Amino acid sequence: MSEGPQLPEGLARYSPATARDVGTESAQKRVLTYNTGSFEPRGKCMQNPTTRRQILAAAGAAFTLTALEGCGVGLMRAKGNTAAPTRLQLPPLHAATDRITRITVCTRPFRAQGPRLDVEQIGSKTIVHNYGHGGSGWSLSWGSSSIAVQKAMATGARNVAVVGCGALGLTSALLLQRAGADVTIYAKDLPPNVRSSFATGVWTPDSRICLEEHATPSFKRLWESMARESFQTYQTLLGLPGNPVEFIDIYNVRDVADRSRHANPPADDRPPFAELQSELIADLIPHAEEFAPGSHQFGARYLRRDTPMMFNLSVYARLLMSDFLADHGKIEIAEFHTPADLASLPQTTVINATGYGARALFNDQSVVPVRGQLARMIPQPDINYGLFYKDVAFIPRRDGLVFQVLGENDYYGLNDDTVIPDRAEAEHAVSTIAGLYT
Ligand SMILES: Cc1cc2nc3c(=O)[nH]c(=O)nc-3n(C[C@H](O)[C@H](O)[C@H](O)COP(=O)(O)OP(=O)(O)OC[C@H]3O[C@@H](n4cnc5c(N)ncnc54)[C@H](O)[C@@H]3O)c2cc1C
Repeated sequence: MSEGPQLPEGLARYSPATARDVGTESAQKRVLTYNTGSFEPRGKCMQNPTTRRQILAAAGAAFTLTALEGCGVGLMRAKGNTAAPTRLQLPPLHAATDRITRITVCTRPFRAQGPRLDVEQIGSKTIVHNYGHGGSGWSLSWGSSSIAVQKAMATGARNVAVVGCGALGLTSALLLQRAGADVTIYAKDLPPNVRSSFATGVWTPDSRICLEEHATPSFKRLWESMARESFQTYQTLLGLPGNPVEFIDIYNVRDVADRSRHANPPADDRPPFAELQSELIADLIPHAEEFAPGSHQFGARYLRRDTPMMFNLSVYARLLMSDFLADHGKIEIAEFHTPADLASLPQTTVINATGYGARALFNDQSVVPVRGQLARMIPQPDINYGLFYKDVAFIPRRDGLVFQVLGENDYYGLNDDTVIPDRAEAEHAVSTIAGLYT
């Protein structure tokens, strides 16, 4: 396997200031084919072969590193040519199983028919449901909660309860406040001990959002409005202290040119999950960029670079909580065992954002668990790129690097509600990514 020209030791420098500018400029040339929650290719591919690749062909064998650009990306330039970036050079990741600090497990609240957003009358209470977002809860939270809040405010109530303090509960509560309501959150657990805190933390708005057979035209309209509203709201959270939200590059690394991962194996006749991004929100997706063998440091492999948003969930959840409390929001620790327990609340209008908890609380068997496990690792500030390789994802979260086995398709983890950490799976995830650097 050809590794291409090697960098002399100590030549690599990283400049975050230039990185952001270059990343933004090049992002305009990409088609994002990044797939939600699983990072696999999505049919569309590079539309515009990059000048970097063309330059590489002309650059010859003698290289020296003169500058580093693009979100944690170093580019080698031909000797004597200060203008022509030629080779992708990413700062090395220190991926090792002894650097694992934590293994977390949680269950995605998947519903085959998509999230539940209807209004139900239970005794004297009007319950607005806002749960069942599968692997898209953070990504769709602002748009979904906006719908729930409109329904809650339509009751005329101005003192509203929100049950749940995860992604959907917090965004519901904040949007209620902005609509002029007094809000109390009631929840069994708060961040960082809710399931939302154990998510990967990437913009994945159609990840396990529903089965394809339930993606009706009206569902697609609903999903698109949720996705677009969330996307725009996230743009207002960029550049804040601690980087609650930022764009990153993710490299999908393949050993072969073929990139089909998502298709079910031939004998698998299970219904496919819906994939909606490329059909409905392609205009929100930066173009992908391809890197052929020899144009990067990962040997005879094929790379595709996409540019999704990443959520640094520790600081992001804290931001949501502190904004809510700063606007006189109240939080009470409470657990409800049946819908009748909600009768004890002083508010007559309640947004139910209990996520997977709704399965037990409302005896809603349509909420199905999809197990997902993260291995967290000591943060590495110079790493601002992610990787997807052999069904394993690496995400460069600032609050702890994330390694995750994604499985060969979205059925991975379905109907599995075990939350016991699997050390072997965690080590497999880390070792798979570490293998790219040997
Ligand atoms: C491994 C993994 C990776 C993921 N990655 C992503 C990602 O990258 N991007 C993305 O958008 N989504 C991702 N998701 C999905 C996302 O995490 C979920 O869709 C989201 O967390 C659901 O949020 P929620 O607010 O509905 O539920 P939760 O976070 O579970 O919050 C529920 C709240 O309700 C409370 N509650 C529940 N039951 C009761 C009760 N009976 N009484 C009182 N309170 C109760 C809980 O204490 C909690 O406060 C991922 C999920 C997993 C498991």
